[in-house]
Amino acid sequence: MEKQDQLLMKKQNKNLVLDLIKGRGPISRTEIAKITGMSPTSISRIVHDLHEQGFVRETELVTSGVGRKAVLVDVEKDVLFTIGIDIDKSNIKMAIVNYVGDIIDLIEIQRNHSENYEETLSKITNHIRDMIEHNRISNEKIIGMAVGLPGYIDYKNGVVKLSDQLSWKEKPLAEDLKRLTTFDVVVDNELKMKIISEYFIGRAKGVKNAVLVGVGTGIGSAIILNGEIYRGESNNAGEIGHTVIDPTGNVCNCGKIGCLATYISEGAILADSRKVKDLTSIDDVYEAFRNREQWAINILDRTTTYLALAISNILCLYNPEVIILSGNLFEKLPEIKEVIETKFEIYTWEPVKETVRMVYSQLNNQGVVLGGAIQAQNALLDLD
Ligand SMILES: [Zn+2]
Repeated sequence: MEKQDQLLMKKQNKNLVLDLIKGRGPISRTEIAKITGMSPTSISRIVHDLHEQGFVRETELVTSGVGRKAVLVDVEKDVLFTIGIDIDKSNIKMAIVNYVGDIIDLIEIQRNHSENYEETLSKITNHIRDMIEHNRISNEKIIGMAVGLPGYIDYKNGVVKLSDQLSWKEKPLAEDLKRLTTFDVVVDNELKMKIISEYFIGRAKGVKNAVLVGVGTGIGSAIILNGEIYRGESNNAGEIGHTVIDPTGNVCNCGKIGCLATYISEGAILADSRKVKDLTSIDDVYEAFRNREQWAINILDRTTTYLALAISNILCLYNPEVIILSGNLFEKLPEIKEVIETKFEIYTWEPVKETVRMVYSQLNNQGVVLGGAIQAQNALLDLD
């Protein structure tokens, strides 16, 4: 075997063992050897290395068989940290997350709609600095951060190509934030980060094919195929908000006529509702729906029909094992779930319906920061 291949294999084995300890620990060396099929000597050497690097620690002794004691190994939760950031139109969330995905600290700050790119970045930088100091975490332990936001993102280069909701265009976000904070930065679309958190710690855990649909200020989806995020050619796979559902319908801010978003997003619902009643926010529409005001029932009936159609189309395209519904619509108006479920029954083709589970996200508004933190870990952690 070439030296290069040997090194690669060594690294892969080490990753395998660490993942196993992370997922199944506390666990004995014997058990690790049994599961991985590696020799007990190799396992002892790898665990020793991981211990030296601070990734694992030995825990209590357990009795294994007659009169024998085995030492278990477990992962060291605070060996490293990443920071997940969720930037939305009117608020920003930032979280410090440890190696196993526990949120150590989470803060939420307001974002003014008039605020420009530089102002938002300087605000984030200051808050992160305070947060790290407050939690007494040394900078060396933070391996990087990840930002999730709505829009078209050049994931490879960390550039925000276009975000209508933030009014950002061609912004080298990863580069700018690295300069300000010194940390390495990953940037991605918010829904892609959300599905990562569902895949690692949420409702898509252990699933190979999954789709997440987010409904709130906009509508979009993210797709995992065979355990990998499906990005398409320009990272826009899943942007169902701009699928056309009525060529004679509403005008979309993208310039086309009849995009799905113009029937489902909060802005669209509110604009239509204002034709009937003077309202201040989307919450008023939901309140009217609860009070069984007919106009609100009509508008949300159209919304849920189009949403059910979108879900049924996605299921035919990707045939996932699980479809996760998330976002403000379901958090603010849980009553709507029943309506969606009825329409899901009506519009979904039997062969794909039989094999799918439709569930709701339980990570709520922490999905993006958690997914970001996990994605930063996956992208930036390099085990030597
Ligand atoms: Zn559009």
